[in-house]
Amino acid sequence: MSTIRNKKIAIIGAGLGGLSAAIHLRSAGFDVTVFEANEYVGGRANKIASKGFTFDTGPSLLNYPWVFEQLFAVAGRSFKDEVPLIPVNPSIKFYWRNGNHLQLSSNFSQFLFELERFEDRVGPAATRFFRTASKQYQIAFDKLVAKNADTPLQWFGNLTLSEISQLTLFRSFNSELKKYFKSKYIREALGSYAMYLGGSPFELPGIFTILPYGELAYGLWLPKGGIYALVEKIQQLAESLGVEIRCSTPIQEINVANGKCVGITTATGDFYPYDIVVSNVDVPTTTSQLLPKTSRKNSSRWKMTCSVVTMYWGINKKLPEIPHHTIFLPDHYEKTFEQLGSGNFPDDIPFYISIPSKSDFSLAPQGNETMFVLVPVPLLSHTRNLDWKKKVDELKEQVFMRLAWHNIPLSTHDISVEQIWTPNDWAQKFGLYDGSAFGAVHTLFNVGAFRHKNYDVDVQGLYYVGASTVPGTGMPMVVLSGKMTAERILSHVH
Ligand SMILES: Cc1cc2nc3c(=O)[nH]c(=O)nc-3n(C[C@H](O)[C@H](O)[C@H](O)COP(=O)(O)OP(=O)(O)OC[C@H]3O[C@@H](n4cnc5c(N)ncnc54)[C@H](O)[C@@H]3O)c2cc1C
Repeated sequence: MSTIRNKKIAIIGAGLGGLSAAIHLRSAGFDVTVFEANEYVGGRANKIASKGFTFDTGPSLLNYPWVFEQLFAVAGRSFKDEVPLIPVNPSIKFYWRNGNHLQLSSNFSQFLFELERFEDRVGPAATRFFRTASKQYQIAFDKLVAKNADTPLQWFGNLTLSEISQLTLFRSFNSELKKYFKSKYIREALGSYAMYLGGSPFELPGIFTILPYGELAYGLWLPKGGIYALVEKIQQLAESLGVEIRCSTPIQEINVANGKCVGITTATGDFYPYDIVVSNVDVPTTTSQLLPKTSRKNSSRWKMTCSVVTMYWGINKKLPEIPHHTIFLPDHYEKTFEQLGSGNFPDDIPFYISIPSKSDFSLAPQGNETMFVLVPVPLLSHTRNLDWKKKVDELKEQVFMRLAWHNIPLSTHDISVEQIWTPNDWAQKFGLYDGSAFGAVHTLFNVGAFRHKNYDVDVQGLYYVGASTVPGTGMPMVVLSGKMTAERILSHVH
């Protein structure tokens, strides 16, 4: 049996999952060093600053602040005091091409008022939806989501049969919404939350109604200074505990001898001995590229979520026509998800726009707006010979045309700062397997005990943390992932 006090752990990658694991492991007494390939921590949750505009590169929607409260509490600190949050309410506005629009809110009366525009006497159904989702949310977070389990039996072990049936795992998210709402507009708006996971409401299990519920019940937030302000506070928290973070230090190999982890080697050839290594690099990238050739696994069978093209635009005018978060939905909703799922560009692209300077003026120069556009696109393996430059121009034109359709005037002349990241950029910058933006899919047999475990079954001492292992993608989930990986290591070391 080893003692924790002098045990050293290397974490590869300073994404939010890696940082959360570092905080939990350091708090448990381990000596922790994080090796990050990029110049800055945060991974997908990074930052671009240019000419007075501040862009968050990936996440723009902060949900479940209680998860971050728990993270800070591990170190005896107060999240509320350290990371001021700006409420974003009403939260998300959905536009359809026929002129309909629906705005969600975490104020239940406002929410009902808006739904009633689409469905007469929707009140009782909406209340039932809320009540059921609230129970599901409670069961999921108390007993399932953040629980390490090796087998489905263990995973479901704490649940009664009635609780298992309440989770609606065996029907789709869309069918679950159909139980409550007749209006296709309400179903499409709430079902769009599947896109938070890079998924489809027709494929994800019904339990994911907890996504819209969680946002409606616990609010939607923007940290003051943007998402990266939260990342910086988490980095500071880790460092204040004594975690060493080495940026600009890409790891080339996880060294293995006789089925055991023995250390890591940097891209410059330096070897550091470790018998416990946590990889925050996307799991299929780790297993197919970072392990020694003899231990590598073929990752081609991994089912990954779609990729994205992201546009970061500094807009030289105000845009009073749209709020902070907007989703533009396609005419043929189901077909669009099918096209994306089968590796094709949808005929009518859905896209999401975030303008965080609407909630925090400090993110853009006065009279300007900071705009982020996210377009879901197929994975790199489906777009091998694509001319991305041409495709990006086409997508930009489609975005402008759709905005014009809704009388929101925007053209290249209004853009004073621009960066655009294609799936190749996402893959190269952060090691995302096949350019997948959100990691492994979250269909029934890819969650919980069925998802890739947070330890390697073949290489002793190798652990995983982040979006492609348990519990899944999204900032709160990868922060929970860090806690779960730390618990896993503690259960093995003791
Ligand atoms: C465009 C986009 C929008 C999103 N929107 C939201 C949102 O609104 N809300 C939300 O909650 N979530 C959102 N997400 C999901 C969320 O960003 C991710 O689930 C989460 O940030 C992933 O964190 P992670 O810990 O898995 O690791 P990552 O962020 O992938 O970090 C992994 C780290 O490992 C480093 N690394 C890779 N290879 C090496 C190597 N060889 N050596 C050393 N370091 C290496 C990388 O540089 C990176 O820093 C979004 C994601 C994307 C891409």
